[in-house]
Amino acid sequence: MIEGALQTALIGAPFPIVVFEGLEMTLTWCNEALLEVWAKDKSIIGKTFLEILPELRDQPFPELLRKVFLSGETHTDTEALAYVIKNGVPVAIYFDYSYTAIRDASGDVTGVLVICRDVTEEVLTKRKILESEARFRNTVLHAPVAMAIVRGPEFIIETANKESLQLWSRTAEIVGRKVKDVFPEVEEQGFLAILNYVYNKGEVYYGNEVAVELMHEGNRITVYINFVFHPIFEDGQVSSIMTVGYNVTELVKARKKAEESEAAAIEAKNNLEAALAKKDEFISLASHELKTPLTSISGYLQVMERSSSAEPNKTFVKKTVQQVKKLTNLVSELLDVSKIEAGRLQLVRKPANIREVIKESIELIGHSNPGQEIVFVSSADDVSALIDRHRIEQVMMNLMSNAIKYTPGKAKIEIRLSADEKQVKVEVQDRGIGIADDHKAKIFTKFHRVDELNPVISGLGIGLYISKQIIERHAGSLWVDSEPGKGSCFCFTIPLKG
Ligand code: ADP
Repeated sequence: MIEGALQTALIGAPFPIVVFEGLEMTLTWCNEALLEVWAKDKSIIGKTFLEILPELRDQPFPELLRKVFLSGETHTDTEALAYVIKNGVPVAIYFDYSYTAIRDASGDVTGVLVICRDVTEEVLTKRKILESEARFRNTVLHAPVAMAIVRGPEFIIETANKESLQLWSRTAEIVGRKVKDVFPEVEEQGFLAILNYVYNKGEVYYGNEVAVELMHEGNRITVYINFVFHPIFEDGQVSSIMTVGYNVTELVKARKKAEESEAAAIEAKNNLEAALAKKDEFISLASHELKTPLTSISGYLQVMERSSSAEPNKTFVKKTVQQVKKLTNLVSELLDVSKIEAGRLQLVRKPANIREVIKESIELIGHSNPGQEIVFVSSADDVSALIDRHRIEQVMMNLMSNAIKYTPGKAKIEIRLSADEKQVKVEVQDRGIGIADDHKAKIFTKFHRVDELNPVISGLGIGLYISKQIIERHAGSLWVDSEPGKGSCFCFTIPLKG
């Protein structure tokens, strides 16, 4: 029924074309494309539609063909779904098609012309895109971090998950609106410029701990965020931007706090060091300044002592001399401390008979403490040690005056000297108040005094500190054995060689 040149053209047409005749839909002509789509050969010519495709019996197509045949009206559809058997397996195909009535010369319908186009692949591809878009949207919505998508050059908020809304202090009403209308406060902070950059350049932008000021319940609040603006391409063009944000406010605040307190601690430490340095400087300066007038006072007192023989001046001068001696001792102790601190305590070591040195110190302390019983026991009469005689005397004076000072009444004190081939040992034993364990190490540090005694017995708490330094400069050691209430024994050793 289709003839000549037209037939030749239609046979090779890329769309499947088929002609059915009669109400039974007997196939009288079809082209190559149809055979291919149906996976049939020419043997189908002369067979009815349902003989050829029995699987379509319960699908709408046989009825639609009948309708066109009976009414003469054309029927078209797009992306229609049909299940056909291909190689023994039912497969779904989608196609666009038209059923057109064929009429004879008198206008009566004699058959139906079917033209169709297989659009299965297009439909499936479209579906896949839709599905992946839906999946992507779903991912955004359920992401554990703030994620949103803004579309187009105006940055219309297309999707924003719960976390985003929370981070931005906004509700779901913002979806569908422009970023610049929803966040007028961020425009001046440069975020629109960044969005424009990502949109126009197609480049990812990363922000690290960026401070953002947002309106929250009518107040401007600052939040710190780590964020990424990621361009999304469609057909090679940026169509939208995915924003991923993570609120790091607490983290940044905690770190800032730690940094601040670290800075404060460093400042406090620096201040303390500066104050300590100032204090040392002051002690050094004050003791130097005090020394000169004290020396003059001592000189004048000596003159007065010689010339005043009448009472009561004689007694007054004597008492003044004693007090000035105390003061001079204190000042020289302070001077020693500053020398030690500055590393300037010099020793002048010479060989000396240690027994003589100890004996002289005992005599000296005896003068200023008449009536005090001091026992000296020596088992090392001829031992010579390399010492700074003056400094060892100073240690002895300190230990003995402490022994007297911290012993109520006038209980005797005992000094013992002994030696072996390696070292000499000196012990200063008293029967005084003793020292509790927790003070034993501390009393050798600067300015440490056993608190309870402070108001009763005067002193600066530096004598033992200086003594220990002197002994250690002799490569020896100084320590105490003591029991509260029973007395103390301060001991030091000095090596004989080296
Ligand atoms: P100061 O006697 O001027 O306080 P020291 O440095 O000589 O300073 O002594 C430090 C502290 O050690 C004293 O304040 C005292 O508490 C304790 N101390 C020293 N010697 C004795 C001692 N023989 N008996 C008991 N306590 C002592």
